[in-house]
Amino acid sequence: SPLVIAIDGPAGAGKSTVGRALADRLGLEYLDTGAMYRAMTFAVQQRGVPEGDLADVAAVAPLVDIRIDDSTVTVDGVDATEAIRGRDVTEAVSQVAANPTVREVLVQRQRDWVADRDGGVVEGRDIGSVVFPDAALKLYVTASPRVRAERRVNQVGGDVDEVEASIIKRDRFDSSREHSPLTEATGSKVVDTTGMSIDEVVDHILELLEA
Ligand code: C5P
Repeated sequence: SPLVIAIDGPAGAGKSTVGRALADRLGLEYLDTGAMYRAMTFAVQQRGVPEGDLADVAAVAPLVDIRIDDSTVTVDGVDATEAIRGRDVTEAVSQVAANPTVREVLVQRQRDWVADRDGGVVEGRDIGSVVFPDAALKLYVTASPRVRAERRVNQVGGDVDEVEASIIKRDRFDSSREHSPLTEATGSKVVDTTGMSIDEVVDHILELLEA
């Protein structure tokens, strides 16, 4: 069966940086499923569909063409790499991700992606719990909200208090939704990256994989 490493955890915990570095070291490909939910949100907004409209969002979801190539994200032929990280998408993505049809469509695409490659490092919120419950290694990567906000600000700028508040709000929404809420999957190893460098985190995970 394919070698899947599932990385879940709250916003800004360093999942993407760690996931990419880990994939590199293991010679696996990397899938950022958060980028897929962001891309879906961008598509919904582009079509003028209200993000909370369950039926209209569900009707659009299967039609959206999402391509993720390294760091470039293309949605229905439009380069959305920057837009999906912007404030409009970030503030609406949790609502779109709570739509059961959106989840069904994207989970299927994530499973297809892995099947095409015979494995990979897959990062998100429900990877170890729902998408790949039999993953070879399940990680729950986290850090204190303050540290997560500081890292975000170092990467993309902004005000630490504001970013921290937005992160806490998104975590709360993602943890309390009805479908596939963010939780530590059964059998997952918790990695608290507060005070750790990327290299330290990656080395620690490689040890977990060997154990
Ligand atoms: O990882 P990132 O912060 O880019 O994810 C954006 C949003 O997408 C999350 O806040 C969550 O609402 C949603 N998401 C999800 N399931 C995943 C990945 C992301 O619901 N597997």
